[in-house]
Amino acid sequence: MSAAGADQTVDIAIVGGGLAGASLAVALAEAPLRLALIESAAPPAGQPAWDERCIALNDASRRIFEACGVWQALRGAAAPILATHISEQGRFGTARFAAADAGLEALGYNVPLRAIGAALLARLRAMPRLRLLQPARVEALDCAGDTVRLSVRTAGTVQVLAARLVAAADGADSSVRRLLGIGAERRDYGQQAIVSAVRLARPHRGVAYERFTPQGPVALIPKPGDTASLVWSVPQEQAARLLALDDAGYLAAVQQAFGGRLGNFLALGRRWAFPLARVMSERLVAPRVVLVGNAAQSLHPVAAQGFNLGLRDVAALAAQVSGAADPGDSGLLSAYESSRLHDRGRAGGLTDLMVRAFSNRVPGLAQGRHWGLVAVDLLSPLRESVLRQHLGHFGLPGGVAGYSAKVSS
Ligand SMILES: Cc1cc2nc3c(=O)[nH]c(=O)nc-3n(C[C@H](O)[C@H](O)[C@H](O)COP(=O)(O)OP(=O)(O)OC[C@H]3O[C@@H](n4cnc5c(N)ncnc54)[C@H](O)[C@@H]3O)c2cc1C
Repeated sequence: MSAAGADQTVDIAIVGGGLAGASLAVALAEAPLRLALIESAAPPAGQPAWDERCIALNDASRRIFEACGVWQALRGAAAPILATHISEQGRFGTARFAAADAGLEALGYNVPLRAIGAALLARLRAMPRLRLLQPARVEALDCAGDTVRLSVRTAGTVQVLAARLVAAADGADSSVRRLLGIGAERRDYGQQAIVSAVRLARPHRGVAYERFTPQGPVALIPKPGDTASLVWSVPQEQAARLLALDDAGYLAAVQQAFGGRLGNFLALGRRWAFPLARVMSERLVAPRVVLVGNAAQSLHPVAAQGFNLGLRDVAALAAQVSGAADPGDSGLLSAYESSRLHDRGRAGGLTDLMVRAFSNRVPGLAQGRHWGLVAVDLLSPLRESVLRQHLGHFGLPGGVAGYSAKVSS
């Protein structure tokens, strides 16, 4: 039955059907809950292409997707990351990690965004208790008593949804956060990430590279065959200049920054540019509202933590609300918030530290960075800690063992 004046009542309304929102709906597929997922953009079209955009998923994300029954559909499109190599241009200090160090087949996987979107959408369409509103936009929210009323605009009409919990997964500029007056700390890095793909002369052998240069970090992440994703984060003014270059000019510039360890780059794919900022919501919950993914925190891509962290938000929230009589219960939301503070603080802090340390030209800092990389490579406890952060194991609800059990059951 609908709450008074509402067109429909659900247990959880998820605002935003990007990676985090769609993953949350899928993670709740088996729960006895009525769900609505509201996404303002139409489903993306797109065919496989050698230069399509990818996202690096770590081991924790692979486990979460496996537990949700999504990984099986992604496995074929995913390129395994067998090792990582972190270095700074002009210095010999490096930090290296291999999957074997962690007793794993892979540290993570580089997966096309198109493939993740398609796998999630297929699962969403098969969920009988889910109402998928797309394209549809949440324009207003009103929390009264034990219900939140949402005004949802769909093709010229506005309908009212009543929900016991609203999960805001509406991105870094979250409209839910704004409508509720929740503040966010925003720091503009004054940089843009230029994302592209390259064909390689030498096999990458599953190794991902993070190379810090005076212009900014260049990440090369393996894709299937002899291709790789490239993410180069550079200051704004330099981004404008690099984006204006033709393909041959850009290829030469990025080759110079990355160096010759994989031979000459043979071809360049499409280029995309993203302005980079850190946005941290001041709170993760409000009465009958919870924030997940980029709506909760949006990070610099340097350590590929962003969606991996958001997916751990999703797993933690799903674990809290799946069996709850009232998913919007304030005690339950507080428990969710407490459970996420350490993981987001750690991932956000590490990412910010890397951006600042490697973009700062203060004399003496270069030596510190150099010995920092050497220490990470050689000192066991530090190495273990950085590796676990990389894998996402710190923030898995119930720990790795808990997730392995879920996966195999
Ligand atoms: C260059 C770059 C590289 C990256 N690489 C990695 C990586 O390798 N690994 C990694 O883990 N992370 C990576 N990230 C981070 C990752 O892309 C993000 O963390 C992730 O995409 C965020 O997903 P989200 O669903 O939280 O937010 P979004 O993708 O922003 O989705 C929000 C959705 O909400 C919808 N929406 C907004 N407002 C409303 C409304 N009012 N009503 C309805 N719908 C609404 C939007 O249409 C959108 O679809 C990278 C980021 C960048 C910029």
